[in-house]
Amino acid sequence: MGKTTGFLEYQRQSGPVRPEEERILDFREFHCALPLNEQKKQAARCMDCGIPFCQAGVMISGMASGCPLHNLVPEINDLVYRSRMNEAYHRLSITHSFPEFTSRVCPALCEAACTCGLHDDPVSTKENERAVIEYAFMNGLAVEPVPEIRTGKKIAVVGSGPAGLSAAQLLNRRGHEVTVYERSDRVGGLLMYGIPNMKLDKSIIDRRVSLMEKAGVRFIVNADVGRTIPSETLLKEYDSVVLACGASRARDIAVPGRDAKGIFLAVDFLGKVTKQLLDTDFQKAPLELAKGKDVIVIGGGDTGNDCVGTCIRLGAKSITQLEMMPAPPAVREERNPWPEWPRILKTDYGQEEAIRVFGADPRVYQTTVKEFIKDKKGHLKEAVLISLSPKKDEATGRIRMVPAEGTERRVKAQLVLIAAGFLGSEEYVTGSFGVETDARTNVKTAPGGYSTSKEKVFTAGDMHRGQSLVVWAIAEGRNAARAVDEALMGYSNL
Ligand SMILES: Cc1cc2nc3c(=O)[nH]c(=O)nc-3n(C[C@H](O)[C@H](O)[C@H](O)COP(=O)(O)OP(=O)(O)OC[C@H]3O[C@@H](n4cnc5c(N)ncnc54)[C@H](O)[C@@H]3O)c2cc1C
Ligand code: SF4
Repeated sequence: MGKTTGFLEYQRQSGPVRPEEERILDFREFHCALPLNEQKKQAARCMDCGIPFCQAGVMISGMASGCPLHNLVPEINDLVYRSRMNEAYHRLSITHSFPEFTSRVCPALCEAACTCGLHDDPVSTKENERAVIEYAFMNGLAVEPVPEIRTGKKIAVVGSGPAGLSAAQLLNRRGHEVTVYERSDRVGGLLMYGIPNMKLDKSIIDRRVSLMEKAGVRFIVNADVGRTIPSETLLKEYDSVVLACGASRARDIAVPGRDAKGIFLAVDFLGKVTKQLLDTDFQKAPLELAKGKDVIVIGGGDTGNDCVGTCIRLGAKSITQLEMMPAPPAVREERNPWPEWPRILKTDYGQEEAIRVFGADPRVYQTTVKEFIKDKKGHLKEAVLISLSPKKDEATGRIRMVPAEGTERRVKAQLVLIAAGFLGSEEYVTGSFGVETDARTNVKTAPGGYSTSKEKVFTAGDMHRGQSLVVWAIAEGRNAARAVDEALMGYSNL
């Protein structure tokens, strides 16, 4: 439970963050760790509240509250406080596959539901998690066990994002022979080619993948299942197939001039930047993509924020981030009580950097693009913006954001990044396996299940639950592994 009076004695302290003016000059991680002794004091703040909402991972009002992996948060915090780091690592490993990813990129659903956070700052569980896993890597504890006995069962995992990786990890530990097929040239899914390097250094992914390879997992990259590799081959050669291809069909914006040169889907843009950085060993950033340009980012969410941070590093001249909805409140509203996920205004790293560089928050609310204007060569030169106002739909009772006529204005733009979310899975994969999908094109399973409508084909991650979070993808991959194991062996001890 940490120290009995720890939450009274110690204030929350987070790890140092590299100052904006320094970190925008490179793509290195900017969140640093506290010294271990200080981190232990942070763990001491865990207060044995009795009902650890932090580890509940339940849906309240349609949003997750607490950790979806059900990490044993108070127990881990207690072990960190008592300097029993080996045990803390083993306790964390019971529920978690890759704490090194979530402790960098998770929005920390645990902390939003922390009882200490009701009246004071929540316990810094995410940074405690990072201290545990980095200690484990530094001290040789974070190994992937090589199974002593192989079952003789062969499993193909399609997609190497966090869902595919966590499914592969558990299935290999159980003794099955696992091959991961990845259509991209590097393993990691959106961990690799979505989330920018400054949030998650790509060597952190390689470090884990190399452990998994040593433990027997086979990775095949540049393997596009359903195109270059027929689904029939996998169905014939493997005892089970896990589809973990993500929700990679990005939502586009259908307005006149969309075909102008200079308009990209955010995820393609971010992937391209990371690829060039990795291909050149961080020697050559693709500055030509944004340097000196007026940039519009469409979408006020986390992906939009990553675009802002990336464009600043590439030397953009100006950045405007458009959000269709009104700005959220600064503090929780009464209808959004603890321990629900707080729907409040968050100023993320990209926006902080924009404020530092340009002197103002880049976000413009209740606004979208009505039209893109091209020059004679078809290059984007301007965008027509229009304000939106809320209107109640009489038929459904829902509030919709509708254009407010007469609010159009033209702004300069040579680069537009569309970060408007994802629609669901890609038809060529689901179609080639013949698995049923729901109205949102997520792969259909029974509630709480992972087996699809096609025999011996399972699914996990964003492809199953729709666009989500790394922590959910890991939870799904682990659950799908259990379902596969049970189907193959008649029971599962995973
Ligand atoms: C820009 C961006 C930033 C994000 N930031 C965060 C964050 O900070 N924190 C957070 O928790 N979440 C974040 N997310 C969401 C998070 O990355 C995803 O929810 C998570 O990666 C989903 O994992 P997944 O394994 O289901 O799918 P993915 O990570 O999408 O991986 C799917 C993999 O399948 C491969 N694939 C697809 N089709 C095939 C095929 N036919 N054959 C072979 N391989 C195939 C793809 O190439 C991909 O590598 C972010 C998302 C984006 C786009
Ligand atoms: S995985 Fe995320 S929600 Fe779970 S304990 Fe770690 S930081 Fe919290």
